[in-house]
Amino acid sequence: MLDVDGAVDRAEGGWIATGDEWVYDRERYEAIAAARRAEQAVMRDYMAAKRCLMRALRESLDDPEAADCGRCSVCTGTLPAADPRPATVSAATDFLRSQTIGIEPRKRWPSGASRRGAIPTELRPEVGRALALGEDPAWGDAITTALAADEPVSQEILDGIVKVLSRWGWPQGRPTWVTWVPSRRRPRLLPDLAERVAQLGRMQLVEALQPHAGSAPWQSDAPSQGAAGIAALRRWTATTALPAGPVLLLDDECRSRWTTAVCAALLRESGAGPVYPLVLHKIL
Ligand SMILES: [Zn+2]
Repeated sequence: MLDVDGAVDRAEGGWIATGDEWVYDRERYEAIAAARRAEQAVMRDYMAAKRCLMRALRESLDDPEAADCGRCSVCTGTLPAADPRPATVSAATDFLRSQTIGIEPRKRWPSGASRRGAIPTELRPEVGRALALGEDPAWGDAITTALAADEPVSQEILDGIVKVLSRWGWPQGRPTWVTWVPSRRRPRLLPDLAERVAQLGRMQLVEALQPHAGSAPWQSDAPSQGAAGIAALRRWTATTALPAGPVLLLDDECRSRWTTAVCAALLRESGAGPVYPLVLHKIL
């Protein structure tokens, strides 16, 4: 129980005055402030490199055997090279790009939508994948550049996608066909990408989704997640009698996950097997 110097006691739903006078504990708070200032001074000394960096760290941790290390930039008098070796940068990039970025399926339709309640398991997509996440240091400008222009993606991006596919594992069987989410903003990027991925993976290419006649123009600034979901439910229709095998569903960006939820349901209702969503950029 938190006791503020005896003046109040915590009670259910709030506080109760004890009747004792409240006194500012100057000594205690000044001691805390002094301890914090001492810690800040240690950090400033470390940054200013006034003495061996390892000694500074060990002394801060009360290590009785703290001594000059002979290896740090203060001891040797030289800083590490400003430019890392290209091989190091390349290895770090490969490592960052090999991380799996999952996209969990949505489980319920938004309230107020034309569909209600839980999304039936057989209509949900599989756990999807994204190539890049947020301000992804693994991709940096490459993904921004790819999405800024409605053009075929670079070989670098395509190579990244191929690696994501090769690591996927396909829990519900390997996809036998590829389709994409039609986009008004980028009508060329995804059909082109779907065609290249289909060729590389020897999968059938099927134009399975179309914008719903009379659907509202794309709005990326829907006022809420629920509103985005309701809009997504009105946006597309699927071709009937689709191939029955598992399908890879390509999209450019993913934020609310409503696009993949709605498109997966439409594809499955039109005969498709398990749906694996793959997006270029998962926005945080
Ligand atoms: Zn040192």
